[in-house]
Amino acid sequence: MIKEILLGMVMAVLIFLTVIGYNVLPIILLFIIGGLCYFTIVQKGLLGGMSMNQYNPDNKVLFSDVGGQEVAKNELREALEFIVKADRIKKMGIRPLKGILLTGPPGTGKTLLAKAASTYTSSVFLATSGSEFIEMYAGVGAQRVRNLFKKARETASKENKGNSIIFIDEIEVLGGKRGTHGSSHMEYDQTLNQLLVEMDGLKTDDKVRTLVIAATNRVDLLDPALLRPGRFDRQVKVDLPDKKGRLEILRIHTKNKPLAKDVNLETIAKETFGFSGAHLESATNEAAILAFREGEKEIALNHFREAVDKVMLGEKLNSKPTDKELYRVAVHESGHALASELLNPGSVSHVTITSRGNALGYTRHNPKDDPYLYTKEYIESQIKICLAGSIAEEIMIGNKSTGATNDFKQAVKLSKQIILSGLSELGVVSEDDLPKGSMHEEIREIIQVQEKAASGLLTKNIDALKKMIDLLQKNESLSAKDLGKILYANKCAKNAAS
Ligand code: ATP
Repeated sequence: MIKEILLGMVMAVLIFLTVIGYNVLPIILLFIIGGLCYFTIVQKGLLGGMSMNQYNPDNKVLFSDVGGQEVAKNELREALEFIVKADRIKKMGIRPLKGILLTGPPGTGKTLLAKAASTYTSSVFLATSGSEFIEMYAGVGAQRVRNLFKKARETASKENKGNSIIFIDEIEVLGGKRGTHGSSHMEYDQTLNQLLVEMDGLKTDDKVRTLVIAATNRVDLLDPALLRPGRFDRQVKVDLPDKKGRLEILRIHTKNKPLAKDVNLETIAKETFGFSGAHLESATNEAAILAFREGEKEIALNHFREAVDKVMLGEKLNSKPTDKELYRVAVHESGHALASELLNPGSVSHVTITSRGNALGYTRHNPKDDPYLYTKEYIESQIKICLAGSIAEEIMIGNKSTGATNDFKQAVKLSKQIILSGLSELGVVSEDDLPKGSMHEEIREIIQVQEKAASGLLTKNIDALKKMIDLLQKNESLSAKDLGKILYANKCAKNAAS
């Protein structure tokens, strides 16, 4: 209303000036320039930056909505007791917790945990990302940090809440080591300094208690000043979920979806080793989309399998390899799958020669547990499995192809792991002090031995290998059941050990 009255008055003055013969053009130009400045500075948030930190009062995420991550949840809950029981904390003279740092790979639920923390403490929740503080204009980042803390206090007061949580994702962008940002380091340093100042200013007896939760995948990049006691002095690790965690996450994301009787979430959890929460959420969503596209009322196991492949490898390719290439892919994948199944029975869940993303074919493994430690024998069996694809090509076609490049890289990595863990013939060694060429020689030795063993394994089971290739060519995919039928019903599995 005031805006309209002011605008009316300005127009009246301009008309009056025109009538009495004044040239009002410069004044109009001045208004236009002023308006443009206002739009870029205030509306676009150049100084305020308030478009970035969204406040969402209905954002109710509970800790029970976060699957797995038991250790992270417990640590976070324990830290939050300082906010929930603030009066008792004050009486005990305990310094309040100012910052919690969540570290871990992308998509593991760090943002979800921060949201759950705000629900748990009935705090106002403001979310932003480190990259939103960085502008090429000096002082803008620092101003944005000041405004963020101010907004957290104001919003909590408006909402009659005693606590506010500020969540900063990708803190490494804003909190990277000072002096390492080249020519624009002054702006970065000022922004980080302002964050440190704001955090130092947080007190228990503030009318609104503010807790900063930050998340990063690169804790090694952070400035040590951020991690010192009194700032982000709690670090909570949010890792990739284990099998139990994956099952919980799958249960959470299939709660609202109709599942067919053949869907066993435990099997899917077992087959999705290495998936993050975000991958699992995406797989459940993709499975539902596939079922919907096929006009099904329920999501079946085959939809999940296809969705997992899609999330892992990407969309199916339109262009198909030639028949000759397809045969080679079938041979290669059969080699991997056969070696894997012979060395670790029950370890293959699915083999396919449908091209997706960058892969022409794929063998999905099904680890029995999520191991933390590996023996030399286990790593050697993994090297054999890696090499078995190209060995099968050599046995069946008489030559190898470029399709094994990634397998070789993986085999070299595993061989290095044997050497650096002190499990090779070289004994305990330091990577830096190893004479030039020794590492290479030892890797070659390990790979040659495993190559010979894998070749023996496949040659002894050549009938099974041929059957697998035939079936793969016919059906484009092979299930664990098909594999079991070929290997065990015909009793043709001849282990290398025998
Ligand atoms: P980034 O590091 O990339 O910012 P993040 O760790 O913050 O990722 P979130 O944004 O919390 O990950 O997770 C993305 C989505 O993945 C969530 O919205 C949720 O759907 C799903 N998700 C991830 N982890 C979990 C989990 N532990 N339980 C349930 N869902 C999860």
